[in-house]
Amino acid sequence: MGEPTHDLGVIGAGPAGCAAALAAWEQGLSVLLFEPDPRRRSKPCGEGMMPEGIACLGELGLHGVVAQARPLHRLRYCVRGARPLDLELAPPAAAIARSTLQAALDRAVAECEGIQLIAHTARVEPTRTGFCITTSEGMHRVRWVVGADGLAGSGVRRDPVAQRRDPTRYGIRAHFECPSEPDHIEIHLGRHCEVYLTPLPQARINVAILLEQRPLRGGSEEGLRIAFEEHPEATRLLGPPIGPPAARRLTRRSSGPVTPDGVLLVGDAAGGVDPVVGCGVTVALRSGLLAARAVGRLQRGEDSKAVLHDYSRAYARETRGRRRLARGLRWVGSRRPLALSALAAARMVSPLTQRLVRVAAGESRSPRTA
Ligand SMILES: Cc1cc2nc3c(=O)[nH]c(=O)nc-3n(C[C@H](O)[C@H](O)[C@H](O)COP(=O)(O)OP(=O)(O)OC[C@H]3O[C@@H](n4cnc5c(N)ncnc54)[C@H](O)[C@@H]3O)c2cc1C
Repeated sequence: MGEPTHDLGVIGAGPAGCAAALAAWEQGLSVLLFEPDPRRRSKPCGEGMMPEGIACLGELGLHGVVAQARPLHRLRYCVRGARPLDLELAPPAAAIARSTLQAALDRAVAECEGIQLIAHTARVEPTRTGFCITTSEGMHRVRWVVGADGLAGSGVRRDPVAQRRDPTRYGIRAHFECPSEPDHIEIHLGRHCEVYLTPLPQARINVAILLEQRPLRGGSEEGLRIAFEEHPEATRLLGPPIGPPAARRLTRRSSGPVTPDGVLLVGDAAGGVDPVVGCGVTVALRSGLLAARAVGRLQRGEDSKAVLHDYSRAYARETRGRRRLARGLRWVGSRRPLALSALAAARMVSPLTQRLVRVAAGESRSPRTA
């Protein structure tokens, strides 16, 4: 096996992979970016972005997409039959349609001569001098690999621990017209599903639904019907639908951020955070930046064990608190009497509640370096 021809191979060009590729290129590394799916721009997502994610887009120089985003100043938690709980977000979160975000990332990648996009599914094997990445069109040799292949990808992991999966949930996304102009993200918690409403620019609203089980028949349309039956108040902001709904299976991985072969995993590929907290894209962008920084250190000849350890710790800092919050929200939200008491308690203990919001927003961690 010959010497590597490129510094870095990035597997997957979702938010995490694009962020890693762009930030690595910024540091002067040559990058191969593998992505087979041209339809990824319409991936089902809640389309809300935490303040830390906005900061990452700024760091990547994507000021145009930030300018197009719609600021959202509050999170509103709703449980059927109870007064909603409003929590302030300062700085505000933002709504960015997934198609707009992915298009901006794709444009930025296309403008970088040092990033070569290869439109094929990739498989990774370690070699004596780095890694061999195989696709149906050939083989590539790189010194380091960032795995950004999301929840369903299988191009990177050979680690048996990584094959452990949490029970599957099912995500649905639909766009509707929205004549009113709400300035908040609305989250309806319930026994069978959660509904997220994110107002988008141009009088539209994104509806994301997380179901505990895939509907037995009827697909996404049936999923919407089940969700609106459980959460009728969620429909009050909705005008006519825009296009058909889209669905996605959620199989959470328990892999950890570095494989035994020394591949750095980012975003959902490293385990991510349940969408209930609304920070998946933020974690994807942030971990992409952190991984690129770690690869930059490896390129400068720093001790690889120390660099990979630091990256693992940095990823854990990004996700630990948010994962706990996600577990708590799902557990409480699916038990109505408990959820009603929790809403009442959250109103009374507002400093604690605001602290939980800061955990989701990503403001409560320090230091912010890998
Ligand atoms: C219903 C729902 C609502 C959500 N709401 C929100 C929200 O409001 N806010 C938020 O921040 N997050 C939300 N999320 C989570 C967010 O969408 C994810 O966390 C985010 O997309 C993770 O980005 P990623 O780049 O890690 O992975 P992905 O976006 O999944 O990208 C992975 C990419 O890797 C590619 N790939 C896979 N295998 C290979 C291979 N072998 N070779 C090459 N390429 C490969 C795939 O084609 C894909 O493009 C939501 C998710 C769901 C399902």
